[in-house]
Formats: sequence, C-alpha cells, structure tokens
Amino acid sequence: MEKKTKKEESCCCDKPIFGSEAMRSSAPVDTIPQHPTKAKIAYQMVKEETFPQTRPELNLATFVTTYMDDYATKLMNEAININYIDETEYPRVALMSGRCLNIIANLWNSPEKADWKAGASAIGSSEACMLGGVAAWLRWREKRKKEGKPFDKPNFVISSGFQVVWEKFAQLWQIEMRTVPLTDEHRTLDPKQAIAMCDENTICVVGIMGVTWTGLNDDIEALDREVEEFNKKHNSEMAIHVDAASGGFILPFLKPDYKWDFRLKWVWSISTSGHKFGLVYPGLGWVVWKDKTYLPGDMAFSVNYLGANITQVGLNFSRPAAQIIGQYYQFIRLGFDGYKDIQQNSMDIAEYLHSEIAKIPVFANYSKDVVNPLFIFSLDEKYDKKSKWTLYDLQARLQQSGWMVPAYTLPDNLTSTVVMRIVVRQGFSRDMADMLLGDIKVAVAEFEKLEYPTQTRIAKERGQKVVGKVRSHTK
Ligand SMILES: *Cc1c(COP(=O)(O)O)cnc(C)c1O
Repeated sequence: MEKKTKKEESCCCDKPIFGSEAMRSSAPVDTIPQHPTKAKIAYQMVKEETFPQTRPELNLATFVTTYMDDYATKLMNEAININYIDETEYPRVALMSGRCLNIIANLWNSPEKADWKAGASAIGSSEACMLGGVAAWLRWREKRKKEGKPFDKPNFVISSGFQVVWEKFAQLWQIEMRTVPLTDEHRTLDPKQAIAMCDENTICVVGIMGVTWTGLNDDIEALDREVEEFNKKHNSEMAIHVDAASGGFILPFLKPDYKWDFRLKWVWSISTSGHKFGLVYPGLGWVVWKDKTYLPGDMAFSVNYLGANITQVGLNFSRPAAQIIGQYYQFIRLGFDGYKDIQQNSMDIAEYLHSEIAKIPVFANYSKDVVNPLFIFSLDEKYDKKSKWTLYDLQARLQQSGWMVPAYTLPDNLTSTVVMRIVVRQGFSRDMADMLLGDIKVAVAEFEKLEYPTQTRIAKERGQKVVGKVRSHTK
C-alpha cells in the first residue's frame, strides 16, 4: 500500500480524483494520516462529508444569518487571516468595532455622551450575555462589599423561556438562577412574579426580546416599573439586562417608538447577536452598557489606538476580525432604510406563513400576533386527541424535501405542548414560503390517510418523551 501511494505520487500524469487511492479508503477517524493527500482530493473528501446536511437556506430552525451579498462575502473572505485581537497590527478593525458599538448603542437610544460607548463585541449573544451578567454580578458585589454585607449568594431572575446560555452563566459563575415559570396565562415574563423572586442578593433581572422558544417579547417597560418600586422600597440598585439576541436588531427598525431599551431607567445593559438579525455570518455578538459607570472597572481594559481611547471588554483573546468587518459593511451598505426593508420583508413573510398555517384546520398558532419574524404552532388541541401522527413526523417528512423545521416541547409547565417553529430570515422569499406551505399540505394529506398511528404517536400515547432530533432551543 505504502509503495502504491508513492507510485501514485510520482506518476507524471494527473490521476483523476476518483481514481485515487484516497477515494477508495476510509476517511481518518482516530489518527492523523502518515502521508499528505493532494489538495484537490482532500478538498473533495471534506466537501463530501458535508453533502448529507441540510442546506443552510432551508434551515428554518436557526436564527443565524445564512445569506450575505457578494461584496460582504468578498470582504469577509479577504479578512479571513486577520486576528481581531492584534489591535496594534490591525488598528482599523478595533476602530470599526468601536464604530459598530456606537451605531448599535444609538439604535438602542443610549444616553451616553462619550465619543466611544461602553460595550464589547463578542463571538455571539452567549458571550455578550455572559459579559452583561458578569457586570451585574461585579456591580452588586462591589456595593455589598462597601456596605459590609455578605456577597457569597448571588442570584438572578429570568423567565423559564431562557436560552441555554443563562444556565451556563449560572453554572460557570455559580450564580443561582431563579426562573419565573411561563404558563398559558403568562406566556412571557410576569414582572410581578419576577420581582417577588428578588431579594438583596439579586444581581439583576433578565428580560428577553425575542424569546427563543416562542418568538415573543417580555414586557420590559412593565418590568422597569416594578424594578423601580422594588429599588425604592429596598434602597437598592437592581438593574435589568435585556437579552435582545433577536429583538435588538428588529425593534429599532420596525418599532422605534416601543420602549424596551436604554430609554427605560433600569435597563443598564443590552446584548444582541450580530449574526442573527444583525445580518452577519456567525460568530458575532454585541453588548452595550447604558453608560461607562455601569461597566465595572475590573472588566474594562482601556487601550489607545491612533489617538482614540477604546475600551476593551471580552472573554476571548484571538478571534476572527471578518465578522466585525462584515457588520460595518452591512451598516454602510444597507443603512437604516435597508435594514428596515429587510426586517419588514421577513416580518411580512412570517405573518403570511402564520396566517396560512392558521387556515390549515389541523394546526393552531401559539400566539395571535407575530412580534418577531418567527412563530410557533402546534396541532389543534381537538385534532391532536384523535390524530395518528405528531409534529415530529411532520418534521421528518419535511426533512425529506430538504427543509429543517424543528418540533420540540415548550419549557417547564408547558412540556406537554409539542410545537413547531419557523424562523424567517433574509434569504427566505415569499416563493420559498409557498413551496414550504405546499410541502406541509402534501405531508398533512398523507398523514390523514394513515391507518395506524406512527411511532411518535404511540410513544406520546404511552406518555414517553419523544426526543426531538434537534435541540432547537439551543439555537
Ligand atoms: C440565540 C440566543 C442566544 C445565544 O446567542 P448566540 O448568538 O447563539 O450565542 C441567547 N439568548 C437568546 C434569547 C437567543 O435567542
């Protein structure tokens, strides 16, 4: 074998890819191959590994950007070898990041007068949420220390519709997470219940704009009123962090008058995903503080670039610069109006799908309104009692046509509800929506003809938990 490979190497003619030794051997699993492989053959092998996957455009499970224009792609590819952290070598990237933060802070009505707003770029909302949470924890700790009070039992309050990153935050920093259950009556965070869970050890309350599970928004204005009352009563400074992973790039464009951001007194930090409705390829997140005073000094590293004093905050060291370049490009290329048009189109298509789903008698939408370009629906309650199939079957059926539309159960208290979620993003056209609806109708017609219940239906009848193939809530 060794010899043969050598011979192949020395062969003067260009052996066809599929005539090569590598193409009839299995791919490496445990150990690094001894010999190099020709680039075009290695490329083919790796490319093939990706073939059986969902096409990103048809992945309606994800919130993350799957389309950018050719110039954005070119810019980002050209920056593929630039490390963001090398700010001395690539000072313009640091500057661009600062400008993006300014732009985002102003979209969220930041009152900060400084030239550079207090904030940070991150790998995604996960890192951005962590930074917001850590800042709240350090602020609280500092205050407790000053007051000579114990600071060993911090907690934070959030609805049970939290994204998994908050569980990680709680685990990694050992901060107790108190969750307000979502129920059929309270489908978003109930501010009064949230406050009832707060005490002197509460570092912050987290509100979510664009709850990952449902697409709904928490009522931050109502929460702000409750927090104001709590703080007055206890003479404390408990603040709100808004996890606006999705909403942060939807509301400023589509609902500029709706108050959820820094216009509210106790909203001291907001995080978002640049790679969701910020319209940049993954990984990019942003976190902004209302003002420098809310960013603990321990977290901020001040560095001087080209005469500009930029504050550096973040968990990561080396990371790609391309996403920041991509975000800055999008701001210039699209402008406010461009973002507005794109988000409005996504909303219109989501609303269209929502209304068409409502017309299919077997389905019921979870909410009447669509407030972000995504929504969830379930089987109609009455129909569900006698149907021979579940939404897990529909998910599998749609997968055969290339769509990924996830089915999953809602969090605590609502775990018996199986739902399906559709996220509409840039790149998903009305025509694609019609194709998807067509495929859903064909699938339903087939299921209606079933004589015997499907496996997932039987499991449901037996009260067994059906484990969905996608952990959609983690996206
Ligand atoms: C997606 C999401 C996150 C995690 O964001 P990443 O950008 O994937 O790291 C956090 N919170 C909410 C509400 C989300 O929707």
